[in-house]
Amino acid sequence: MQETSKAGDLSDLHDWRFDVDTEEIAWAIFDREGESANSLGKRPLEELGRIVEHVEANAGNLAGLIIKSGKAKGFIVGADIREFDELDTEAKVKEAVSQVNGMLDRLETLKIPTVCAIHGNCLGGGLELALACDYRIATRSDSTRVGFPEVKLGLFPGFNGTARAIRRAGAVAAMQAMLTGRMIRASAARAMGLVDELVSSPERLRWAARKAELQKRRSKPEAMTKRVMRQWPSRGLLAKKMRTETAKKVREAHYPAPYRLIDLFEQYGGDLDRMKRAETEAFAPLMVSDTARNLRRVFALSEQMKGLTPKGLEWKPLRVHVIGAGVMGADIAGWCVASGMQATLQDLSSEQIEKGIKAQAKLFKRKFRTPAARAAAEARLIADPDGLHVPRADIVIEAVVEKLEVKRQIFRDLESKLKPGAVMATNTSSIMIEEIAEGLDDPSRLIGIHFFNPVAKMPLVEVIRGQASDQAQIDKGCAFVTAISKFPLVVKSVPGFLVNRVLAPYMFEAFKRLEAGTPKEKLDEAAVTFGMPMGPIELADTVGLDVCQHVGEILKGSTEGSQLAAKVAAGELGKKSGEGFYTWKDGKPERPEATFDAAEMEQLGRELVEPLIDEAARCRDEGVVESADLIDAGVIFGTGFAPFRGGPLHYRQSAGGGDKPAATKAAAE
Ligand code: NAD
Repeated sequence: MQETSKAGDLSDLHDWRFDVDTEEIAWAIFDREGESANSLGKRPLEELGRIVEHVEANAGNLAGLIIKSGKAKGFIVGADIREFDELDTEAKVKEAVSQVNGMLDRLETLKIPTVCAIHGNCLGGGLELALACDYRIATRSDSTRVGFPEVKLGLFPGFNGTARAIRRAGAVAAMQAMLTGRMIRASAARAMGLVDELVSSPERLRWAARKAELQKRRSKPEAMTKRVMRQWPSRGLLAKKMRTETAKKVREAHYPAPYRLIDLFEQYGGDLDRMKRAETEAFAPLMVSDTARNLRRVFALSEQMKGLTPKGLEWKPLRVHVIGAGVMGADIAGWCVASGMQATLQDLSSEQIEKGIKAQAKLFKRKFRTPAARAAAEARLIADPDGLHVPRADIVIEAVVEKLEVKRQIFRDLESKLKPGAVMATNTSSIMIEEIAEGLDDPSRLIGIHFFNPVAKMPLVEVIRGQASDQAQIDKGCAFVTAISKFPLVVKSVPGFLVNRVLAPYMFEAFKRLEAGTPKEKLDEAAVTFGMPMGPIELADTVGLDVCQHVGEILKGSTEGSQLAAKVAAGELGKKSGEGFYTWKDGKPERPEATFDAAEMEQLGRELVEPLIDEAARCRDEGVVESADLIDAGVIFGTGFAPFRGGPLHYRQSAGGGDKPAATKAAAE
């Protein structure tokens, strides 16, 4: 490709490269300066505006415009979230968004054909930009994904993507994509109409784009069936159904964005030009809402946790050995295999190993699409009853019964067998690392790697630092957790570590009220009204009432005479036995239809979480975790604490609870 005079005065661009080739095709290559991924910040958008203006002025001399990424791995990850906080009033949001939308309208109406060439992630604002082009080509690569993740940040598409997505994919598919925020594979995107053509590799993208330009290809006109779904009464019926589906997942009071999107569609979906204008009006209040701000904070915190692994660490965990094939051990091994590692599984009982391995089939089916990939995963999960693979392991995780002596013995045996530099970790929930490390030749080698149940679902893993734990082992622990796509949180070895420690007083508070006569349904509804993923009594049933009793006795002493003790004595252990505080059917608790007073639920919900927040504040004061922000992150990702409230310490601070302010650095980073 050769730069010619038709590139005009665009030589000073920082984030884009603009060239015109010998066939008069203009190429706008997005390669954001100093960043590993392309995001649509202020400067890249301004520069794109200049490109569009230039192409508009020179359209007579150009055969077409191709928009492509200059990064090897991705197209556009979305708008630049780091800049969102600058838009702190609705007026500022509308002004900024309108400018972008004006530019995208000009791009859409250029007189020459425009093609978007996509490889890797094409998300949010990136997909909205792509939809303003005449034709979209994507690689079939496994790394190519399109989608609208805005809803996860308390928003919906704001660069007129709502209307454009509906025009291309139809109301049903487009709304579903926007309401769920799911990442869509290239082949599915093609079937939906969000993408027009697929190519096998990034190398082919350039030539396919060029060909599409020369043949002046455009997306097919909107199909009649898609148009019909936008007419009233189809639209009204669809909106009703979408509201019902959305209500099963999130409450409007907590997450208004999907509900406002459905309103927008219901009102304006029949006239997509009006929908574009109305989109901005509905988008602006969401953007400045506390929900969106807090969800951005949670996103920033998750990025901060991913960054806990020291850069430049050479160590890469490839072989994991897990001792104990019970509830936790088998799933830990399965998850490691699903993350590409080899895992060997040891237990006293061969049947237990076999059962644990079999149980991973479901996970592998979900994670791997082809039979070959599933077979490869199965081959990487190896039964090792005698621990023959220990000397080759990069990391050993012990997940046997919660008994100090058993654990001590295991690590004493392991110490001499492990290769130098291999990580030695326990998954204990309640025993201090120092106690387990006693009697080891080198106690600094032992750390905790504390998973939560169910392993496949819970995003957080606590990396426990014992008093003697070596920093290099902690670093490797974090690297391991990151390598299996979980968030690591370094926590001091204190009883309950962070997550169980803050959960315990919350559960005790609920049980105290239960004993005093508050109905379980009321307690659970109040906690969900606050924003917890499930109520405390349902949670106790889910965890197992025997486990709760055990924890209660460790932390509080006797549970004698309580309803909890009576249930355990009667063998009613909760979800796993089918009977607990609730009767469980098909994995769900049975409860009578009941309505509670909304104000009472609000009040009770706040009161229930108070002890959790108090404990989180104590953990901050004691330095259990490095910073207040990371405590918030740990509690959100470890307990599901209402993400839209930004974490317990942040919530107390923003609700004016009179506590010392938590640092809010992460939100700005
Ligand atoms: P489990 O009882 O389901 O499984 C323990 C397994 O360890 C059994 O299969 C047993 O045969 C095996 N085992 C016992 N002694 C052994 C030995 N010397 N060598 C090899 N295998 C041996 O227990 P679990 O619920 O999976 O818990 C395991 C560990 O994980 C405990 O330390 C627990 O505190 C911790 N943990 C549990 C949960 C949870 O929700 N269950 C959550 C986080 C952490």
